[in-house]
Amino acid sequence: MSFEDLGLSPETLRAISERGYTTPTPIQEKAIPSILMTRDVVGLAQTGTGKTASFTLPMIEALSGGRARMRMPRSLVLEPTRELAAQVAENFDIYGKYHKLSKALLVGGESMADQTKLLDKGVDVLIATPGRLIDLFERGAILLNDIRILVIDEADRMLDMGFIPDIEKIVSLIPPTRQTLLFSATMPPEIKRLTSKFLSNPKEISVAPPASPAQTVSQYLVHTTDRQKRDVLMGILQREDVKNAFVFLNRKRDIGPLAEFLTRRGHKASPMHGDMPQTKRNEVLKAFKDDDVKLLVCSDVAARGLDVQGVSHVFNYDVPFSADDYVHRIGRTGRAGMTGRAWMIATPDDEKYLQAIEKLIGKPIPTEKIDTARRDSPTVSSNSHRSETRHREPSSPRADGVKRRPVRPDGDSSSASGFGDDVPDFLKR
Ligand code: AMP
Repeated sequence: MSFEDLGLSPETLRAISERGYTTPTPIQEKAIPSILMTRDVVGLAQTGTGKTASFTLPMIEALSGGRARMRMPRSLVLEPTRELAAQVAENFDIYGKYHKLSKALLVGGESMADQTKLLDKGVDVLIATPGRLIDLFERGAILLNDIRILVIDEADRMLDMGFIPDIEKIVSLIPPTRQTLLFSATMPPEIKRLTSKFLSNPKEISVAPPASPAQTVSQYLVHTTDRQKRDVLMGILQREDVKNAFVFLNRKRDIGPLAEFLTRRGHKASPMHGDMPQTKRNEVLKAFKDDDVKLLVCSDVAARGLDVQGVSHVFNYDVPFSADDYVHRIGRTGRAGMTGRAWMIATPDDEKYLQAIEKLIGKPIPTEKIDTARRDSPTVSSNSHRSETRHREPSSPRADGVKRRPVRPDGDSSSASGFGDDVPDFLKR
């Protein structure tokens, strides 16, 4: 099936083709025709499946005739985080470039005065996080009586973040004649309940999760002590050809100091965490996307849902406390069919978290040794005692052109060949 078969307008098809997309993803194929027929839709789909375009594209069509009145937006997209909201807004800009639609992004941390000004002009699409929307509603800056299309995106995350009471309140303010679309990666009972309460005879669409990171990300583990962690990270950075990377930490307070340390050591690093003002977070994200920042030192919350193309590495400077977080973290690389590399640094205290992660991914993560004492010419050796799989040193071409001969425990030093060879065997299966 092609985009032309889905009932989209020539203007939208042009924007899609300029974006470089040729084939709709399964969720787009299934959702777009139903949404265009004004049906309610419940989509069981994760990020990475193309779900954002599956609702933005038909919304652009549905809103293209007609005009928004002052303070009365015509559609509403609810997102759990500012970053996700910003990504949806970006989608409307990209796909709606040949339509004259107005939009407003209402998220915490940005100027309320600016947002109110936009609302006063009238907006076709309002993209919001629940808290800020309720704030502005209570100040009288916004009326929800004219909303024709409501999207509740990432419903299960909204639940995790405690937003369900806010969502219920917002939905109660929107006329029941609206069209409602709800997307969620999972369907816990609470979300099922919301679905039957808010949606009428919805079309149910479920798509397989995108290829799991285990298939596209080569994973490595280094055992060390707390004191040696920074040196180990430096050692890994020295041997890997890092284009850009997320460096994940568990605690906010450690983020700034590590970013500073990396900067002192000559890396283009920047911190990003939930306590930073939104304008600063936007700046950092832009710098990262523009390649001005190479290492984004961040927390799980700050990185949630961020869609940055072509990230070469993920470093788990701390072992995450939750195995799910590990999978989310490493999924920042190896996206959209590309390969990526994920390294994790573990201390003896992390053993139980490590076990939970390996249980979840169903495989041991191969361990590597980083010689912190000789970082100027690091000798690297595989140490597969945990995985009992002997594999080659994960080498990648270096930007500085220096070729290094990996030294294996058996003393054989042979240059690793193509990328395919250095993917551990268990990941190829
Ligand atoms: P999402 O699931 O909405 O977060 O989208 C995941 C990624 O897939 C984003 O980077 C989109 O730009 C990209 N994408 C969406 N639709 C398509 C498509 N039909 N073909 C290729 N890439 C797409």
